[in-house]
Amino acid sequence: RPTTVLLVCGGAAGEHSVSCLTAAGVLGAMDHERYHVIPVGITTGGSWLRLSIEEVTAFRASGDELPSVDAIAQGHDEALLHRDGEDVLLATRQGSTLADPVRIDVAFALLHGPMGEDGTIQGLFELMRLRYVGCGVMASAVALDKDATHRMLLGAGLPMVPYTALSQADWTVSRRSSLDAIAALGLPVFVKPARGGSSVGISKVSVAEDLPAALDEAFTWGAKVIVEQGLENAREVECAVLQDPRQGLRTASVGEIVMEGTEFYDFTTKYLGNGKARMQVPADLTSDQAAEIDRLARRAFVALGCEGLARVDFFLTEKGRLLLNEVNTMPGFTEFSMYPYAWGQSGLAYADLIDLLIEQALQREAGPR
Ligand code: ADP
Ligand code: MG
Ligand code: MG
Repeated sequence: RPTTVLLVCGGAAGEHSVSCLTAAGVLGAMDHERYHVIPVGITTGGSWLRLSIEEVTAFRASGDELPSVDAIAQGHDEALLHRDGEDVLLATRQGSTLADPVRIDVAFALLHGPMGEDGTIQGLFELMRLRYVGCGVMASAVALDKDATHRMLLGAGLPMVPYTALSQADWTVSRRSSLDAIAALGLPVFVKPARGGSSVGISKVSVAEDLPAALDEAFTWGAKVIVEQGLENAREVECAVLQDPRQGLRTASVGEIVMEGTEFYDFTTKYLGNGKARMQVPADLTSDQAAEIDRLARRAFVALGCEGLARVDFFLTEKGRLLLNEVNTMPGFTEFSMYPYAWGQSGLAYADLIDLLIEQALQREAGPR
């Protein structure tokens, strides 16, 4: 009997369309003899809808139009997860009655950022005793909070970029002392919402007068912000880590984001293919540098308690120092994104990577861990 996979996409606004593109890619690569895929889209407003395979396949970037679940929400029945004995079922609600319950073997949430990559949906799956691909609640929640990540990885002895965290309350009550704490970092700095991704709300500040506006902007995304020392001309290298169900922890060849004519790896450069960044795998590194990145990436994966997959991102400074930037527990996962691309360049094809992730999830105990 095929494995029934609940494929979840869409979600909160920031990375909604990216998630839809990912879902189209993953669905397209899955062997439909082996898997019975049930796609569910979450609108930006939080409604869960059961989608057809065709609707997900149609999620493609075309011109300026980015795909979204919202755009196809009309006329859909709401989808519900519920338990019946030992089975987790997905059903659709037509009016007040439940129709078509389907048993689910494993969930694969292709969601990025808050309300998906942050432990929330993982917590729901835990409560349902439903197995799922990727990191658990704690690793997801910590990795999505750049302040919590810094604290946890510093505690594990990993080299992090010097930073300070500010709450909305700190900033509202005392702008002066907030600015003093930031001044200690020097300029430039990077101002970032603590809980975010896809470079949303991030700005580089090179002159002190621009700080208040950058902080105000970052706080529109959440009540905690981090300010990091800005690294000039640092290279950005990324390491894809996979918990292989048969071989244990594996890392792909290190990848590099090579920037051409952009200040930093911002949202437009990441997703809209403006040609200002390209991926290079393997990155041009000495064997010592590559080995050190590999070692630190594995340590970060273990320190955060990651499962399944994570992409660990580093800066290699002008002076040759390696600093850990962040850990992404649901990294970009279209066929052309760094995580699958790095594995492809390391001999593991996209479809095989998806198989391994699902197999790893199925091996896990459902329920409290
Ligand atoms: P996100 O989770 O949104 O990807 P990042 O922390 O990776 O956030 O920041 C996005 C991009 O901003 C990075 O890929 C890099 O180009 C730039 N950046 C972030 N922090 C720094 C820093 N401290 N120094 C230099 N560049 C940075
Ligand atoms: Mg990130
Ligand atoms: Mg990043």
